Amino acid sequence: MKSNVYDCIIIGGGAAGMFCAAKLAKSLYFGRKILIIEAGPRVGRKLALTGSGRCNLSNSDIDISRYNTDDPDKLASCFERFGEADTCYFFENILGVVLEQKNSLIYPSTYKSSTVVDALRFYLSDNNVETELKERVTSITENSHIFEIKTESKKDFLAKNVVIATGGITYPATGSTGDAAKLLKKITDNSYFVPYRPALTSLSSDISGIKGLAGIRCRGDVKIVDGKGEVRAQSEGEILFTKEGGISGICVMDVSDAVVRLIDNGEEDVKAILNLTGKSAGEIFQMIYIRRQMYAHRSCADALSGMLLRNITDFAMKKMGLKCDKMTLRELNDSQIAELSNLLCAFPIPVTGYGDVDKAQVSSGGLKLLRLDDNMQVKDLPGLYLIGEAVNVNGICGGYNLQWAWTSAALAAEGISQNV
Ligand SMILES: Cc1cc2nc3c(=O)[nH]c(=O)nc-3n(C[C@H](O)[C@H](O)[C@H](O)COP(=O)(O)OP(=O)(O)OC[C@H]3O[C@@H](n4cnc5c(N)ncnc54)[C@H](O)[C@@H]3O)c2cc1C
Repeated sequence: MKSNVYDCIIIGGGAAGMFCAAKLAKSLYFGRKILIIEAGPRVGRKLALTGSGRCNLSNSDIDISRYNTDDPDKLASCFERFGEADTCYFFENILGVVLEQKNSLIYPSTYKSSTVVDALRFYLSDNNVETELKERVTSITENSHIFEIKTESKKDFLAKNVVIATGGITYPATGSTGDAAKLLKKITDNSYFVPYRPALTSLSSDISGIKGLAGIRCRGDVKIVDGKGEVRAQSEGEILFTKEGGISGICVMDVSDAVVRLIDNGEEDVKAILNLTGKSAGEIFQMIYIRRQMYAHRSCADALSGMLLRNITDFAMKKMGLKCDKMTLRELNDSQIAELSNLLCAFPIPVTGYGDVDKAQVSSGGLKLLRLDDNMQVKDLPGLYLIGEAVNVNGICGGYNLQWAWTSAALAAEGISQNV
């Protein structure tokens, strides 16, 4: 074998690509040649943004119901083979990152994503993993089990194994521009590729008054309902009203994948039903009823200010055709209290669109999992692997997407280490 042939070339120095290189460096014999080719000026640019700069790198409650994929059984077996505990072990004992758990969310104890990026970077450098930066791969071809990789600047590389870790399409400024589809097209049957779409994103609405809520956060829940009134997704947590006149926050992002699919399939009547209180309508009725006995003389806005944000009271009462600052709570009769309670706990917001790739945290789509073997190797094309967001697996917020990056990367590394 010629010495300029790498044992493995990893295309993309993101979370999955770096972790795969680190696992390979750990398991391969000394003298092996591993190269990361990264389009951007440095590795781990998206990883540095994760968890609002704190990097929620996993979750102690990994469960496939939190993921969307074409092959849930294979996904479950992937996590059984390399799950959250294996990830934590590698981070703590091999990469030297101290971890901390907040509820089920796992972070570096520094709460800085740079800790994670640096730990991976230093480990790769210690173990002689080569890196080519500012090189965007444009094609992969295969001949007699050797892959030839070409870059935009016309550089050529040869490898026995290739890992496509090019990510999805979101936050394209970090270098992820959906290249897996283009690269695969030249080398294999591309009909197993599910087009990338934004997931974990905000939702927009043109309902009147919603812009007045910009910046308001409340705890509650959201249900996504289609034109037939069927609930298609639901989640609970923080709801944030955006300055663009829409809704975001973790629970909204968690249902956004369902909205993107409905809207892209031509569904016109998509609604988000918001519970803006975190309580039941019955409980809210009781609370307003008691306040009417205590603070009857106050305006509704003032009387309810201890239990509801003023803007929310205003938003809901406007929908009923009432003004919360002009009307006293005494004037609100029982049926109006019931109507207000129901509205606060099931406020219908027509959804007119969703945040684009610049705003979405993750992409859905990618090469179908069923097209890959248990070690993320493309079936019928030995030596070619896909990992991370390039594969048709996406999860909700809470460390699930990075866990998929680590899991798929570790399984590919295991497969490659048996091949070289
Ligand atoms: C703002 C934000 C916050 C997030 N927070 C969290 C969180 O807290 N927890 C969580 O689990 N997930 C989070 N995610 C999702 C998580 O970051 C991704 O799922 C994860 O980074 C995917 O890893 P990846 O390696 O597959 O892709 P990426 O991290 O996107 O890396 C792909 C790399 O490939 C390079 N590349 C692309 N094409 C080429 C090419 N042709 N040639 C060479 N290089 C190429 C890119 O430059 C990039 O560096 C967040 C995402 C965003 C945007």
